[in-house]
Amino acid sequence: MLQLFQQLFGKKPHTIQLHISSANGFHLRPVAEFVNTAKTFACDISALHQHKSVSAKSVNALLSLGLEKGDSFTLLARGKDAKVATETLQALFARLMQEDKEVSTLGKETKVYDGQIIEGEIISRGVVIAPVCRYAEREFATEARLDFSEALAKSLDELEILYLAHKEEENGSIYLAQKALLHAIADDLDSFETFELTIAEASAHLTGSKMASKIIDYQDILRRVKNHMGIKTEMILPETSAILLAEDLLPSQITQLRSSRVEGVVLKETTLTSHTAILLRAAGIPSLIADYSTVEEHSRVILDANSGMIVSKPSEKDLTEAEKRKTEDRKQRNIAANKRFEKALTRTQKQIHILSNVTDIDSAKEARAEGAEGIGLLRTEFLFKNRKPSLEEQTKAYTEIFSCFENITVRTLDVGGDKKLPYLTLQEEDNPFLGIRGIRLFKTHPQLMEEQLHAIFLAANGRPIKVMFPMVSTVEEFMHAKAFAFRTAEKYDLDISAMLFGIMVEVPSVLFLIKNFNRVTDFYSIGTNDLTQYLFAIERTHPSLKVDEHSSVVFDAIKTVIDQADKPVSICGELAADPKAVGTLLKIGIETLSVSPKRIAATKEEIRHV
Ligand code: PEP
Ligand code: MG
Repeated sequence: MLQLFQQLFGKKPHTIQLHISSANGFHLRPVAEFVNTAKTFACDISALHQHKSVSAKSVNALLSLGLEKGDSFTLLARGKDAKVATETLQALFARLMQEDKEVSTLGKETKVYDGQIIEGEIISRGVVIAPVCRYAEREFATEARLDFSEALAKSLDELEILYLAHKEEENGSIYLAQKALLHAIADDLDSFETFELTIAEASAHLTGSKMASKIIDYQDILRRVKNHMGIKTEMILPETSAILLAEDLLPSQITQLRSSRVEGVVLKETTLTSHTAILLRAAGIPSLIADYSTVEEHSRVILDANSGMIVSKPSEKDLTEAEKRKTEDRKQRNIAANKRFEKALTRTQKQIHILSNVTDIDSAKEARAEGAEGIGLLRTEFLFKNRKPSLEEQTKAYTEIFSCFENITVRTLDVGGDKKLPYLTLQEEDNPFLGIRGIRLFKTHPQLMEEQLHAIFLAANGRPIKVMFPMVSTVEEFMHAKAFAFRTAEKYDLDISAMLFGIMVEVPSVLFLIKNFNRVTDFYSIGTNDLTQYLFAIERTHPSLKVDEHSSVVFDAIKTVIDQADKPVSICGELAADPKAVGTLLKIGIETLSVSPKRIAATKEEIRHV
C-alpha cells in the first residue's frame, strides 16, 4: 500500500531494467524512436547506467550513455503516468532490439594477388581499378546567412523532406533520426557557439567507444546548420575516375558521390552499421573499411571489395585478373537486369503489370532502368521542396518525367498529415491526419492547385496522362476537384479530352461508395499505407503502435474494391511490394502493382512463382 502511494505521488519511481541485445548497441535510430515515445508521457523519465543518470526524453543524452550489446540500464519513471510509460517503453524496447537488424560481415571471396595486400572489411561489393585520391575539402562563405534559429528550423525542415523522399528505402530512417538528434541538441540552445560546443562534447564522449561511428551524425547536423548560416564546407571531388580514401565521410556526402567520378571508397574509421556505410551500400559504391596509410597518393590500385582487399602496386597479372572479375561482375548484373525487362508472368502465364512509384526525374529514370512498365504513382509533393516551384519549373519537371513512359499516373499535391511543406501554412490542427490533406487542398489552396494542374496539362500536351486525387472520401469531393480541373483547362485553353481522372482508395468511406464512384471515376489506385492507418485508426507514423499490415481486414478491403469496381484497379501502397502479400493480392484479382524502383525486379520475380 505504502509502495503504491509512493509510486502514485512521485516518491518512488517505477523502474525497469532494459538489456541491450542487439549487436549494433542502442544506436541513433532506435534511440530516436524510443525518445519520441518517451516524450508522449508527462512523467519524468530517466535512464541510469553506471552511476550516470540522463533524461530518457533526449536523444543526445541517451546516446551519451554509449550503451553497447550486453549492457543494461535502468529506466526510472516518476509521476502520474509513470506505470504506463514504463510498460509502453519496455514493450517498445523489446521490439526495437528484436527488429534491429545486425549487419553481418560480408563473406570474402578468396583471391591471390602478387601486389601488396591491405585487408579490410567489406561495406559494399564490387571491383574497381583506379588511382587513389585522398579526401580534401574547402570551407567558404556563402550568401545564405540565416541566423542560428532560422538555420536550425531550415535544417529540421530539410531533414523531414529527405525522410519523406526516402522513407520507402532502408536508409529513410537515418534522416528522421538525425532530425530527432538535432531537435534534442538544439532544444533550449540560443546560440550557435553553445550548439557547436555541445556537439564537440558529445563527440568527445563517444570517441573511443563502440558507438564512435555515431560521431559522424553529430558532425553532419552541425555542417547542415553551418551551411544555412553561410559557412559551407565542400568536399573536393576528383575530375577523373578515382578511389576515394577518407578517414570517414558524412552521410550527406554519399549523395554527392553518386553523381561524381568516385568509383570506390575506402574508409578508415567507420563501422559496418554506420549511416555512412548504409548509404554507401544503398548507392552500390564498392567500398571497404581498411587502413590505407601505406597507399601512395595517386597510385593506381585494385579495390577488390569482393575479396575485401586493396592491392597496391599490382602486377600486370593482377590487373588482368581484376579486369576479368570486373567484367564478370558486370555480366552477372546484366543477367539480372535483363530479367527485369521481361514480363511478370505467373505460373499460369497471367501477366501482372509492374509500374513504379516515383518522386522526380531521377527516380523515374531509375524506374525505367529497373524494368518498370510505367509510373503508377508520381508523388508530386517532392518537387515542392524548400520553396514553391514556379509554373515553368513544374512544367519542365513534369515534361521530363512524362517523357520516360507511355503509361503515367500523376497524383496532385498530397500535403497535410505527416507531409509538410515549409512554405505552406496549414492551420494548426489537433489531428492533422484527419484534417486538411490531399484533395481537401482544392478548397483551402485553390491557387496552388490550379497552378499545379496547369503545369500538368501543359506537360501532358494532349496525351492520355492519368491524374489522380489523394485522400478522396466522397463522390462530391471528387466531382468538385474534377470540375476544377476542367475549368482550369478551359481557362488556359488546353485540350485535356484524352486525360483520365481517378482516385486513390485510402479513406475507408470509399469502400462503401465504389458503385457510385464507378459512374464518375476512370480508375482506382489503392493506397494501402493510408487505408490501413484509417481502417485501424493508428497513425502510420506512430512510434509504438503498429498495425498488422497483413490483417485479413486489409485484404478484404482490397477485395471489396476489386469485386465492385468496373474500372481498372491497381495498388500503389507498400503492400504491393511485400513478398508476403503478393500471392494473396494476385489471388483476389489484382493485375497491376506499383512499387518503388528498387523493388521492381524482386516483385516481378515473386510473381513468377505464384
Ligand atoms: C498510400 O497511402 O498507400 C500511398 C501510396 O500514398 P502515400 O504513402 O504517399 O500517402
Ligand atoms: Mg496515401
